[in-house]
Amino acid sequence: MFNGKGKIQQINALVSPANYHNPTPKPYYDFVVLGGGTAGLIAALGANALGANVALIESRHMGGDCLNTGCVPSKGLIELAQKYHTSRMFIEKFGQTLNLDTSSWVQASQHARAKIAPHDAVDRFVKMGLDIFMSKASFENPHVVALETGEKLRFKKAAICTGASAKRLLIEGVDAADVLTNESIFHLATLPGKLLVIGSGPIGCEMAQAFSRLGTKVTIVTQSKRLFEQNDISISRLMQNVFAQENIDIHFDAHIEKVVPRGSTKYVVVRSCAARIEVQFDKILMAVGRVPNTEGLKLYEAGVDVDQKAIVVDRYLRTSQKHIFASGDVIGNTMFTHHADAQSRVLVQNAFTPFSKKAVFATPKVTYTQPEVATICAPGVSFSDCKQVTMSFDKVDRAVIKDRDQALVHVYIDEKQHIQGAEIVHPIAGEILPQLQLAMQHKMKLGDFSSMMYAYPTESEILRKIGDRQRAQRFTPLLQKISRWMVKWL
Ligand SMILES: Cc1cc2nc3c(=O)[nH]c(=O)nc-3n(C[C@H](O)[C@H](O)[C@H](O)COP(=O)(O)OP(=O)(O)OC[C@H]3O[C@@H](n4cnc5c(N)ncnc54)[C@H](O)[C@@H]3O)c2cc1C
Repeated sequence: MFNGKGKIQQINALVSPANYHNPTPKPYYDFVVLGGGTAGLIAALGANALGANVALIESRHMGGDCLNTGCVPSKGLIELAQKYHTSRMFIEKFGQTLNLDTSSWVQASQHARAKIAPHDAVDRFVKMGLDIFMSKASFENPHVVALETGEKLRFKKAAICTGASAKRLLIEGVDAADVLTNESIFHLATLPGKLLVIGSGPIGCEMAQAFSRLGTKVTIVTQSKRLFEQNDISISRLMQNVFAQENIDIHFDAHIEKVVPRGSTKYVVVRSCAARIEVQFDKILMAVGRVPNTEGLKLYEAGVDVDQKAIVVDRYLRTSQKHIFASGDVIGNTMFTHHADAQSRVLVQNAFTPFSKKAVFATPKVTYTQPEVATICAPGVSFSDCKQVTMSFDKVDRAVIKDRDQALVHVYIDEKQHIQGAEIVHPIAGEILPQLQLAMQHKMKLGDFSSMMYAYPTESEILRKIGDRQRAQRFTPLLQKISRWMVKWL
C-alpha cells in the first residue's frame, strides 16, 4: 500500500532537509543566486564550473516548480491517466470494467518526483562546492542580500531566479470554494467528483484531460474563444473534438460571476455571451496564468526595475543594475523549464566571460495533452507571414496502423523554402518536433527532408513525405521537358 506522506517526507529530506544548517557565509561571493529552481540551479552550477565562488539561496524546495509543483508531478499524473484511460477503453471492449484505486493517482505524481528529486538534492550541490542557504532572501542594497535566517551575503554579481506563482482571480464568494492551484492539486487525498478548471492554457488543458481520464467530471471555463488559441484553427478544432469525445464540457468566451454555496453543494455562475448558467463543482483549479515572484525581494533597495511584477531585463539578461541579472519565470513571457535553462546558460556566459550573447531563442512549446500539441517559431517571425505546408498522418503507414491518422503537421516556410516554424498534433508531437527544430537551426529547406532515409514504418516518415512533395513542386514544366528528353535519348 502506498504511503503518500512517507514518499513526500522522503523527497523533502532531499530538497528541503529539516535538519539542514546554513553554512557560515564567506566574507564575499563572486555570485549570489536567489532561487533554487531550474534557472537558479543552472546559473549557480555554470558559474561554479567557471571558478566563481557561489552562494545559492532557496526559500522552499530545491528544484523549484518544475520538480515539486509543475512539470514532474503533472507529467507523472498524465502518464497514469493515459495508462488508465487506454486500459479502460481496451477492457470495456470485452464488457469488463476497470476500477482505479484513488490513492494511486497521488502516488503517480509523487513517484515521478521521488525518482528525479536526487538530482536536485541540497547535498548534491553542497558536494559540488556551492554554499546553499535555505531561507528567504531580499536585497539590502545593490551589493548585499539579507536572509530571513539572519545571514547577510555580500556579492559582486547576482542572479534573480525566483520563478512565478499561480495567478488568482478575485471572484465573489470564492473563499467558500475549495480552490486548488499547482501548489495543492498534486496533494489531494482523493479524486474530486466534479472539477471546475478556470483557464484553458497548457496547465488548464493538461490537468482537465488528466482528471477527466481518471474519472472526474471536468468543466472548463475560459475567456478564450477556442482551445489552443495561439495555434492554427485546425488544431483548435481537432483538440476540441478530442475533449468533447472525452466528455469534457467547455464554456468559451466566459467568466465566473460568483460562487454560490447551496447546502453541501457548490455552484458557480458562469456568464458567457450565449448564456448565464450554473455549474456544480467540488473543487476549482485556478489555471489562469502565472505571476512572477518579485514581492518581498525589496528590489527597490537594489535599484532593480520591475514592470507588471516581472523583472525588466535587456537582451543580455541584465537588469537595470548591470551587475544583477535575472532569468526564468521571474522575467515573464515564455515560462518553460527548458527556456529557463537556456537563459541561465546565456546569463552565466554574459556575467563571467567577455563573450556576450543575446538571450533570443526559438523555444519549443509542448502541451502534454493526448494528443500532444507541439509548436516552434523562429524569433521575430509570425506564422501569418509564412506559407503553411500541411500533411495529415493518414498518409503515413505506421500512423494508420496505430490508429493515429487524425494527427497532423503544419510546417511554415519562407519564400526561399526555409523552415520558420512548425505545429504538430500527435501523441508524441514533442518527440517529432526537434527534427524540424534542428532543420531550422541549420537553415535547411523543407525539401531537404526528401533525401533523409527513415526506417519503415515510422511516424517520423511524415517529414520525408512532406519533403518529397515539396521537392516535386520544383519539377517545373521546363524540367519535365528536359527529363522526358533525357529518358528518350540516354
Ligand atoms: C503545473 C505546471 C506544469 C508545468 N509543466 C511544464 C512542462 O511540462 N514543461 C516545461 O518546460 N515547463 C513546465 N512548467 C513551467 C516550469 O515549471 C517553469 O517554467 C520552471 O519551473 C521555471 O523555473 P524557474 O527557475 O524560473 O522558477 P521556479 O522553478 O519557480 O524556481 C524559483 C525558485 O525560487 C524560490 N524563491 C522564490 N522567492 C524566493 C526568495 N525570496 N528567496 C529565495 N528563494 C526564493 C522558489 O521557492 C523556487 O524554488 C509547468 C509549470 C506548472 C505550474
